[in-house]
Amino acid sequence: MNHDQSRRNFLKLGGAALAAGTVGAAAGATGAAIAGPSGSAAVASGAKASLPKAKGPRLVVVGGGTSGLTIAKYAKREYPKFDVVLVEKRDMYSSCFSSNLWYAGLINLEFLADHSFLDAAKNNDYIYFNATVTGLDRAGRKLITSEGEIDYDFLVLAPGISYDYEKIGVKDPEAVAALRQTYPGGFVSPTEHVSIHRKVREFEGGVFLQTVPSGNYRCLPAPYERACMIASVIKRNKLKGKVLVLDANPEITIKQAGFHAAFDELYKDIIEWRPSSPVTGVDVGKKLVHTEFDAIPFDDAAIYANVRASTLIEKLGLMAPPSKSNQKEANVDTRFYNVAGDLRVYVTGDSRPQPYSKSANTSNTEGHHVARMLAARAQGKEPVWAAPRTICYSMVNAAPMEAISVDAGYDYDAAKDEITGFSKDTRTFEKRDAARGQATLEWARGIYRDMFEA
Ligand SMILES: Cc1cc2nc3c(=O)[nH]c(=O)nc-3n(C[C@H](O)[C@H](O)[C@H](O)COP(=O)(O)OP(=O)(O)OC[C@H]3O[C@@H](n4cnc5c(N)ncnc54)[C@H](O)[C@@H]3O)c2cc1C
Repeated sequence: MNHDQSRRNFLKLGGAALAAGTVGAAAGATGAAIAGPSGSAAVASGAKASLPKAKGPRLVVVGGGTSGLTIAKYAKREYPKFDVVLVEKRDMYSSCFSSNLWYAGLINLEFLADHSFLDAAKNNDYIYFNATVTGLDRAGRKLITSEGEIDYDFLVLAPGISYDYEKIGVKDPEAVAALRQTYPGGFVSPTEHVSIHRKVREFEGGVFLQTVPSGNYRCLPAPYERACMIASVIKRNKLKGKVLVLDANPEITIKQAGFHAAFDELYKDIIEWRPSSPVTGVDVGKKLVHTEFDAIPFDDAAIYANVRASTLIEKLGLMAPPSKSNQKEANVDTRFYNVAGDLRVYVTGDSRPQPYSKSANTSNTEGHHVARMLAARAQGKEPVWAAPRTICYSMVNAAPMEAISVDAGYDYDAAKDEITGFSKDTRTFEKRDAARGQATLEWARGIYRDMFEA
């Protein structure tokens, strides 16, 4: 991909989110009072969380995903005086990235899940606190959790994404619950991966539907990679079946040449890709997916709805106005991630509004940058901006393992205060090969090491 192509793709793909890249109007530094789960003012219980007394400036990091784990570790390393607490609602880790490989039997579940929050915290000298965040008192610098309140000097929120089912025409809570439980998207929580793994294992033929949403959804290549992995199982088991990829976008959103080649050369009669087919509704009982013109039957499915920032961002009153983000992302400074007008509270990872790829490598490299920035701010120094890097491998062939990849950087326009596109050194590697197949596994091991080991 040359620079012009990469810029065009960036603008096309990140288009909706790009508007959100301009961060301006402050939400008020002392802003939100206490926001509760309902979004209305919540009453803090006043009970303190059971934590050791802070031995230095307390940095609380919410979310033990790629972003939060990286920031907790490296902020402590950059500024050892920080007293770091990682608040995570889950008590078991399992990564979203690499889960597609599990469906095709290329890795086992241990590869994804044999990583401990406790070990990460012990190895890197911070505290893992297993609790759910329910509110925030920015004026009083208190985070409210299911296990009591935590005072902070600096707060990073990295809660990831939520699905936006309304955008695919599924609105009432009963229909959303039925769809989510029956045909999970597999892009938020490990329990979805376990369901999809079972579906793929038990698939006996017919149509397996994989949808691709519009907007800046989490991991652009992942739904296409998943289509390839499920198709490889259909091929291996010689089933009379196919993967129907219903794509809301007019073109494959990234690594087009590599995915088209895989679809045509490896899975000719097994993958059917239909572009410009946004989902407008799903009838779970009848196993029918609706688009503007068709009602398409399927036998099993992974229905990937549009994404938005985690609902936590909205509940805490940190959401950017619709003119800046149509995915309900946080209202933060374009370069330094602090909530507009508030140098104590930061939002990172897939809840950010910048039009970066919502991916693990982006969150990890961004996490290193945010850690340095927090260390600078805690010492009264000027932070320095650095762009995250998006390196992303996609396995397209299972036997033998072969992958394609992208390596992208980003440009910042100071006059506009916007991230304007991919940087000149952005490259895609679209000719699948075995070396990249191996590198896909090595990349994931490297990210686990960087998050969990000392
Ligand atoms: C199928 C699939 C394939 C992918 N493939 C790739 C790939 O090949 N390469 C790549 O780079 N990326 C890939 N990704 C994307 C990558 O996994 C994510 O973009 C990245 O992990 C986002 O990190 P995050 O920290 O922002 O969010 P997450 O990793 O989702 O972490 C958010 C954390 O916050 C916690 N949390 C949320 N709310 C609360 C609360 N109220 N209180 C306490 N804790 C809370 C959650 O439990 C979660 O642990 C893939 C993702 C999927 C699903």
